[in-house]
Amino acid sequence: MKKPEPFKIKMVEPINLIPKEERIKSLERAGYNPFSLKAEEIFIDILSDSGSGAMSDRQWAGLMMGDESYAGSRNFYHLESVAKDLFGYKYIIPSHQGRGAEKVFFPQMIKKGQDVLGNMHFDTTMAHIELAGAHAINLIHDRAFDTVTPYPFKGDFDTEKLENYIKNRGVENIAFLIITVTCNSAGGQPVSMANIKAVKEICDKYGIRVFIDAARFAENAYFIKIREKGYEDTPIREIVKEMFSYAEGFTMSAKKDAIVNMGGLVGIKDDEELYISTRSLTVPYEGFPTYGGLSGRDIEALAIGLMEGTEEPYLEYRINQINYLGQRLVDGGVAIQSPPGGHAIFVDAKKMLPHIPYYEFPAQALANALYIEGGIRGVEIGSFLLGRDPETGEQRESDMELLRLTIPRRVYTDNHMDYIADCLIALKDKASEVKGLEIEYEPKVLRHFTARLKPVK
Ligand SMILES: *Cc1c(COP(=O)(O)O)cnc(C)c1O
Repeated sequence: MKKPEPFKIKMVEPINLIPKEERIKSLERAGYNPFSLKAEEIFIDILSDSGSGAMSDRQWAGLMMGDESYAGSRNFYHLESVAKDLFGYKYIIPSHQGRGAEKVFFPQMIKKGQDVLGNMHFDTTMAHIELAGAHAINLIHDRAFDTVTPYPFKGDFDTEKLENYIKNRGVENIAFLIITVTCNSAGGQPVSMANIKAVKEICDKYGIRVFIDAARFAENAYFIKIREKGYEDTPIREIVKEMFSYAEGFTMSAKKDAIVNMGGLVGIKDDEELYISTRSLTVPYEGFPTYGGLSGRDIEALAIGLMEGTEEPYLEYRINQINYLGQRLVDGGVAIQSPPGGHAIFVDAKKMLPHIPYYEFPAQALANALYIEGGIRGVEIGSFLLGRDPETGEQRESDMELLRLTIPRRVYTDNHMDYIADCLIALKDKASEVKGLEIEYEPKVLRHFTARLKPVK
């Protein structure tokens, strides 16, 4: 029997499907780039799961308990006690969001020219590494790039690649290692406990420090529970504690698994010196270390969200919903990255639109077609996002052309999932009518946010 959502709805926000002719006009005005659509022109928005979740009645009640004292707010002490307990770490510092945490934490441990190792670095993490003059090296197992063959932990490091890399490059050239859980850039794919442990052992052997990029730590813990032998009966919070025991610190975007609209965290296990230096950097960049760029009320919502995000019935619903959408698509003959990860379904646009070459951006064309079809906004992860070679100016070809359907937490019901699936399946049957795109305008950096396109003749 299919389990229903483990909540009832107390407040609703109407959504509106504007007529098809208006959607066609809106998309043209937006330069065939869904980033430039107004949110009001969208019926179901699955652009991102970041900060787009629905807070609970308890979190909203928590907002009313905000203590806006400049220093030492009681909400900070609440957050600190929840986070210390959850992660088993001694030091907790809030930040305005994940990238704020990265900024005050990672650069201080980097010397120019060094490498920072990871399974697959998230783009803001990579940006902070590069801004500090280091290189971000991805050592994920190649399985992650094979969308078709299922594997339970496609976020895993290739430990052989990792050890060889360390030996060839030399430990002195390696600043530290980051494990991203779940691995966002690989499709929200989880990392197994066995792999975290193995990576930690290798790093210990060479004296390399291990940190966690913890945005989706709870979803990762849930995957360990349901997919990894020996954890079936372990409570989620115990799995979380074990995961974090293999690292020395973490940065977290709380806009994901902590289910708040804004917020972040730094956690440090026991290194007092590292804590003091991070605290000092927090003052000029984020704010006094008991508020770190957040209002007291937002810190309260974050403390409550950390607990709610690690409750098992919630996680079961969350992962099942993504899986449900994935299964509907598979049953309808739409190729997706499988098995689905924790926060999104990735549709293989190369398979769906084989007539559109990479330089005409098949996944962007599919995103646009889905908007016209049903007022749904997904996002392209492919050659359009990848951009041009900085030296030659040539369009680069991405390994995969994916349309990401990112599901916000506690926002949409399975009826919305059915609608998304029905629209994509309907599109599959008229896929040959979808036209490729060419660029009309593009900025030099991060062009995908603001570029304008038009359909090829
Ligand atoms: C979102 C995210 C970040 C950055 O967090 P922001 O809150 O958006 O600044 C870092 N790492 C991962 C894995 C993320 O998903």
